[in-house]
Amino acid sequence: MGASATAGMQMVAARPCMSSSQGMLASRAAVSRTAHALSSSSSTGFASCPKLCYSSPLGSSRRSGVAIRAMASGSVPQGLPIDLRGKRAFIAGVADDNGYGWAVAKALAAAGAEILVGTWVPALNIFETSLRRGKFDESRKLPDGSLMEIVKVYPLDAVYDSPEDVPEDVKGNKRYAGSSNWTVKEVAESVKNDFGSIDILVHSLANGPEVTKPLLETSRRGYLAAISASSYSFVSLLQHFLPIMNPGGATISLTYIASERAIPGYGGGMSSAKAALESDTRVLAFEAGRKGKIRVNTISAGPLGSRAAKAIGFIEKMIEYSYVNAPLQKELLADEVGNTAAFLVSPLASAITGSTVYVDNGLNTMGLAVDSPTISS
Ligand code: NAD
Repeated sequence: MGASATAGMQMVAARPCMSSSQGMLASRAAVSRTAHALSSSSSTGFASCPKLCYSSPLGSSRRSGVAIRAMASGSVPQGLPIDLRGKRAFIAGVADDNGYGWAVAKALAAAGAEILVGTWVPALNIFETSLRRGKFDESRKLPDGSLMEIVKVYPLDAVYDSPEDVPEDVKGNKRYAGSSNWTVKEVAESVKNDFGSIDILVHSLANGPEVTKPLLETSRRGYLAAISASSYSFVSLLQHFLPIMNPGGATISLTYIASERAIPGYGGGMSSAKAALESDTRVLAFEAGRKGKIRVNTISAGPLGSRAAKAIGFIEKMIEYSYVNAPLQKELLADEVGNTAAFLVSPLASAITGSTVYVDNGLNTMGLAVDSPTISS
């Protein structure tokens, strides 16, 4: 465990004070107890070692002298906080307070990060107006009672890398009139000019114009549009933001289980786009890890009734299906995805990269729909 992961946990060099098997038991207990900030328990070996408890899982012959001070002199550990103070995040794909992007922004803000967002140009006006008029004030509330502050909203269309790529009909479109510098390259330049650097990049956007069509009926244009907006957009964002990302930074994107299992109804090449996004997560983890010491992970989220998901048409049924069939029978909250994102971009996750992390009440693990009439008869 690296020094950077010690905000609520003190790492100290120490001599062992118990046998190797006790050490093994205690090391697991120490980690779990520290994480949960529990009080001491005699069954774990702490009672026999009230001051310093050896925590190497390697056994006595390979003890490295690293220990966790869990219960020094009866004091209670401070917990294990996700601390993003001093970090700056750019979150692409926030246009209201319903979606995963908003929940991620809130969790990062609660952990102390400075929040910048990229909002799709056609949705910019209404988002900024709603923000200004206080429409989101209730959902801006953070756990400590303060309101999340969005330091700056950038217009963004992640389908275009630079001004040369923008077709005439889009340039002339009235929904784009009044905004400028919204291609990915220009947004990265603007953020650099305004703030110099970022630490966290979040991709929470997707678009598939033919999402309601089965793949078998999807046009080439629709398929490529889904890939362009939902997967290449992440490649492009990382390409352009990497030069201004501080080493040790991290990225998160949002994916969906339709990448690896057939989900009828999630069509138009969106399943293909999510598969590409997950594959790119692994490749980019290597490339960005080597090039800029940046970690790249994606969260495979369960169904949420966001604006984008409602456009697919059957999201309420998917939410109900998840409730009935997932190992955890509870509503999936956007905040649960936000909190996972905050953990993954924090120093606590300093060795996690290239991963697809499921936040779906465990639905991905199921191979059988337990509510199927076929098995209940
Ligand atoms: P959302 O509507 O909150 O987010 C989608 C965002 O993408 C919107 O803000 C939209 O304006 C933006 N967008 C669309 N095209 C864009 C473009 N060309 N450039 C910039 N922004 C663009 O909905 P959400 O469901 O929270 O989606 C966020 C992410 O979560 C997506 O990647 C989605 O696939 C993923 N996801 C959603 C669910 C779900 O059930 N809602 C499940 C798993 C994964």
